Amino acid sequence: MASIEIRGLTKRFGHRKAIDAVSLTIDRRDHLAILGPSGAGKSTLLRIIAGLERCDMGELRIDGRLANDLPPDQRSLAYMSQDYALYPQLNVRRNLETALLSLKLSSSERDVRCAEALAWFDIEPLTGQFPAQLSGGQAQRVALAKALIRRPDWLLLDEPFSQLDCRLRDELRGLLTRVCEHYQTCLVFVTHDPLDAFRMASKLALLDDGRLLQCAPPLQVYQTPSCRSSAELISPWGVNWLCSQSLDEAAAWSSPELIDDLRTELAGEICIGFRPENAQLQSSSGQSKTMKSSSGGSKLVLPVTVERVQSLGFAQWLTVCSNGQHYLCLVPHLPKIPAEKVDEQSHLVIAAEALLHCRRVSH
Ligand code: ADP
Ligand code: MG
Repeated sequence: MASIEIRGLTKRFGHRKAIDAVSLTIDRRDHLAILGPSGAGKSTLLRIIAGLERCDMGELRIDGRLANDLPPDQRSLAYMSQDYALYPQLNVRRNLETALLSLKLSSSERDVRCAEALAWFDIEPLTGQFPAQLSGGQAQRVALAKALIRRPDWLLLDEPFSQLDCRLRDELRGLLTRVCEHYQTCLVFVTHDPLDAFRMASKLALLDDGRLLQCAPPLQVYQTPSCRSSAELISPWGVNWLCSQSLDEAAAWSSPELIDDLRTELAGEICIGFRPENAQLQSSSGQSKTMKSSSGGSKLVLPVTVERVQSLGFAQWLTVCSNGQHYLCLVPHLPKIPAEKVDEQSHLVIAAEALLHCRRVSH
């Protein structure tokens, strides 16, 4: 099976480890997203795979071949940097052609490749334009066309959507997936947006501070994040973490067994959290302490005051407070929470299955 295998990869810049003993395998069937905060080492890892940076320790194999010292142009991959790296003095057509130079194609083959790349990315009208005359979205498409025109086995993209608005971003996610499937190109891309990973990746590598936190399909990471940092990185709306005072507040309303279990976990090395999209708001009048024994599964019920309601159009974004602790919730737009409800006592209800139990530290 063709693959990229990384074993114990380490890269230092001065005293700082940008990549710290990272091991992972990317099968040719995978589209891999590398997700992490700024400075996590994502670009460095991608540049090592591309052959633009040397590692200090460890092993990189591409399709079974040791590639630590293999020149970039012998790696059957294309790499697109965050700044697109188009030649400013060449028009779009000439920029595309430069990517073909080392392939020694006939002029008719070159023409076919250029025409296909221009058509895929819908940039035929830009053929004679120079990079400085292109918008961010246009330059992005040209750079992607330039990367794919060589029909590489592996396409490495560093933050390919960072300069695009939401609509263009989503359009390009779909387009890129289709092009890669068409040419059977394996995509490895860097992002800090979990939605990119959900939309495009079959596998997700979470990096933080140079270390690999978790490597698994995006949904698996979402459902069972390995540690607190993993949970935060994969959650589009963030995570609310509970403290022991919150459990004291919830004790009167929630099942005693659940509270006991959560207290034990919190006292150990486990953080308990819930995502804004997994909380429901119920008014106090609809609540009774018999919730403790109500059917429908175990729930955490936290008395809160609604401090702020903001409409996101499709949903309401709430800031609620429980004994000085603030939590964020995403609740359906209807029923609309009227202004007079703000400052009133309510309850947050979170199903036990929706609670996150994460190790405090990554290792
Ligand atoms: P990310 O892409 O996740 O934001 P990078 O891989 O760019 O992170 O950087 C990881 C760490 O390595 C950062 O602390 C960064 O400052 C450092 N770094 C990256 N490239 C260099 C370099 N050429 N020289 C010195 N430090 C670097
Ligand atoms: Mg980067």
